[in-house]
Amino acid sequence: MNKVIYLDNAATTRVSEEVVNAMIPYYTECYGNPSAVYTFAGEAKKAVTIARESIAKVINARPDEIYFTGGGSESDNWVLKAVIDKYGDAKGKHIITTSIEHHAILHTCEYLEKKGCSVTYVDVDEDGVVKLDELKAAIRPETVLISVMTANNEVGTIQPIEEIGKIAKENNILFHTDAVQAFGHIDIDVKKLNIDFLSASAHKINGPKGIGFMYIERSIKIGSFIHGGAQERQRRAGTLNVPAIVGFGKAAELAMANMEKNAKYETELRNHLVERILNEIPYSKFNGSTKNRLPNNANFSFKYVEGESMLILLDQKGICSSSGSACTSGSIDPSHVLTAMGIPDELAHGSIRLTLSYLNTLEEIDYTVDELKKIIERLREMSPLYK
Ligand SMILES: *Cc1c(COP(=O)(O)O)cnc(C)c1O
Repeated sequence: MNKVIYLDNAATTRVSEEVVNAMIPYYTECYGNPSAVYTFAGEAKKAVTIARESIAKVINARPDEIYFTGGGSESDNWVLKAVIDKYGDAKGKHIITTSIEHHAILHTCEYLEKKGCSVTYVDVDEDGVVKLDELKAAIRPETVLISVMTANNEVGTIQPIEEIGKIAKENNILFHTDAVQAFGHIDIDVKKLNIDFLSASAHKINGPKGIGFMYIERSIKIGSFIHGGAQERQRRAGTLNVPAIVGFGKAAELAMANMEKNAKYETELRNHLVERILNEIPYSKFNGSTKNRLPNNANFSFKYVEGESMLILLDQKGICSSSGSACTSGSIDPSHVLTAMGIPDELAHGSIRLTLSYLNTLEEIDYTVDELKKIIERLREMSPLYK
């Protein structure tokens, strides 16, 4: 096998051909600025409207509750900073989040803490599920926002979003969820789940990079994050990235139409992968919930091996994998998510994440397990700890 086996779909995905084809005319033909009044720009404007509708439908939102952004990180930054800006002085500057969020949330929280906000990082159990009793206990009169991700990017665990939405509503606290990993992969209904803000990104669902959105429930008033023109109902300035928005709309449409089919297929592949690894590789551990997890995510820890060494040797075999989030790879700290789940440092260091897509095949999975087996045997032979 000489081609690349891409098993890092939680980091980013291949843009599907249908998406690329949908985007091209908005670079070459309908390149007008959708804010312009002349007829020529009308096509671009119409395309944005259609994309907004496709995206809103996936989460049962209204199109006017969707605000396009530069991606998941921007959406996450926006909600945290804007809620504090708007409600901080009137109500308080306390945010509740979890210890396993993406760095777009965690590093924004750190920034806000330096600015005088207070943040509670609720713990998770050994499966990576947020502890609801701790979350409830963390609520204070000055709590303005609860932010809990829908599904974790490293271990794939899906959080009890419905329960958290209820807790937030009962306590009159705004609720944000980073759904970047979940959007288009699992069912999300923002109305049913009492979600006030939701972040998502196109490049995790076979769409282009650099385009995302935030859902903002329509009665909520928060300020703009990017100041300038009047785009996005004066809440996010900047000329709309029409081709990317069109691509995002197409990707959302495809993700929704194929959600069940893809989930079933990816679950089958993943179960095969997990079964073979646990059966054939000694001292291996599967991380995260077995029940409440994304269809495409598998995360393992192996005793007596180094995660980074596994990645490099897999790469030599043309296999793309990850030791966690793309932002932490290359660093020597073990993953903050695995640490929060109580996995000891030595074991967390020997972890890899394999994230699949509908484009992967059973043959690729078998090849990956065969190679991984050999790699781990080789690394263990060199390890002084392994006897
Ligand atoms: C990828 C990711 C992000 C960041 O999204 P970008 O569009 O790359 O900025 C945020 N949160 C989670 C959970 C992610 O997986």
